[in-house]
Amino acid sequence: MASAITAPALTSAAAPAAGRALRHRRRLRRADLLTVVAWASAALAVAMYLTHGVALAGIGDLLTAGGIVAGLVGSDLVLVMLVLAARVPLIDRTIGHDRAMAVHRQLGKPAFYLLLAHGVLLTLGYAWADRANIVAETASLIGAQDMPIAYLSLGLFVAVIVTSLVAVRRKLRYEVWHLIHLLSYAAVLTALPHQFSQGTVFAADTPQRVYWIALYVLALGAIVTFRFVEPAVQSMRHRIVVDRVERIAPDAISIHLRGRDLDRLGAQGGQFFTWRFWTGRTWWHAHPLSLSSVPTSRTARITVRELGDGTRALQASLRHGTPVTFEGPYGIFTDAARGRERVAVFAAGIGVTPARALLERLDAGRGMVSVIVRASDPRSLFLWDEILRLCQDRGWNAWVSIGRRGSGSSSWLSAADAHRGVSMRSAFPHLDDSEVYICGPDSWADAVEHEAHHRGVASAHIHRERFEL
Ligand SMILES: Cc1cc2nc3c(=O)[nH]c(=O)nc-3n(C[C@H](O)[C@H](O)[C@H](O)COP(=O)(O)OP(=O)(O)OC[C@H]3O[C@@H](n4cnc5c(N)ncnc54)[C@H](O)[C@@H]3O)c2cc1C
Repeated sequence: MASAITAPALTSAAAPAAGRALRHRRRLRRADLLTVVAWASAALAVAMYLTHGVALAGIGDLLTAGGIVAGLVGSDLVLVMLVLAARVPLIDRTIGHDRAMAVHRQLGKPAFYLLLAHGVLLTLGYAWADRANIVAETASLIGAQDMPIAYLSLGLFVAVIVTSLVAVRRKLRYEVWHLIHLLSYAAVLTALPHQFSQGTVFAADTPQRVYWIALYVLALGAIVTFRFVEPAVQSMRHRIVVDRVERIAPDAISIHLRGRDLDRLGAQGGQFFTWRFWTGRTWWHAHPLSLSSVPTSRTARITVRELGDGTRALQASLRHGTPVTFEGPYGIFTDAARGRERVAVFAAGIGVTPARALLERLDAGRGMVSVIVRASDPRSLFLWDEILRLCQDRGWNAWVSIGRRGSGSSSWLSAADAHRGVSMRSAFPHLDDSEVYICGPDSWADAVEHEAHHRGVASAHIHRERFEL
């Protein structure tokens, strides 16, 4: 491993440590509070059912009650999923976009099973009460008011869940999967009418009905506001265009952007935007890409590795003046999310982009930051000269590890470095007292995170930017 520079003096940090730790604790408390709110909404859904007058007089009633509760909790979880995907700034700043999307994905299957159970249990319960067979009961249910679109809703949920199964999703183009995924909005809306016309929990003029409608307005309002209105307004306000495209490696380009008041985007080093470039070949796919330098009032920069058709098309299509729209900034791979004075940055491949921008404005004293950049070969060492210069200017440690990866606990290093005895302990002696930032290919980042945990770093002090969603 080449040591690029080191700064032996370990001075106290510039920013007040107590304030940073307090902000960090507050953020974690906010995250706990959000979790409590989400589960409380599910509990409230059950409570609404229990308080509206329940009579359990036999198996039919029990099945029906189970079906109603499953439907209420399942619908509530779907609304929580929508809010998590809505890019609500409070949620993004508290747990980060990737964590929000991870929870969104985790809730998908339980919500779907509950909605399925809702349909099955209610059909069984009604069939039991009517002493009818299942087929006849299903036929009579389909004929009831608002029920055809309720069944359509279930069908749409099936399509969304099946296409989101890892094995199926891998086979689909991202854009195709995304288009099908948008059907979940239609599924939510088509499920709504039968809840009022068929259910007894949300009778007219009851607080239950007001509360339930408010939940839907809140969730769908968040989507409309933060996914559509806010990005459109911001894109019009900042009028970003491509200034020039710079090739920095055989398979990577930096896109220099120009716009108005870009320093007012509120973007911090380490954050990303979802960008759409308005050319004939590229307008139909948007890409999440991190800033590779912090915006000034007139300029911003992103750096892109050409990994698929969409990113390859950028180099060929972008011209001086190409209009750009965006959603963001997102993510907490930032200085603001940090709880400790010391910082350890691990970046690999194109994962250096948020690390480069993070370092640019990091508020840390000499010797308080250590950075390691990994690449499988020298051509994949993107932006290294800039990172090196930043570290030299600020008196931070910067290392590079190039070559095929090794095995065992140091598998995140090159085999040659691991063989020479380099380890996390030798490169980052203060790791257990550091805020850790990791960005790179999933398997590599997993290895780094695993060893960081092993070295005593708590999850709350590890920030990971995932490029593979
Ligand atoms: C938070 C984040 C920050 C990123 N920052 C950078 C960066 O700074 N530089 C860089 O080169 N790459 C970055 N990426 C990765 C980059 O977004 C993908 O490589 C790119 O979108 C691939 O698109 P493609 O059409 O070329 O490839 P495809 O072959 O179409 O897609 C490859 C994979 O990329 C992912 N992907 C594609 N489009 C999207 C999308 N709109 N939203 C989410 N995932 C998508 C999917 O998992 C897909 O399977 C980042 C990704 C994320 C999630």
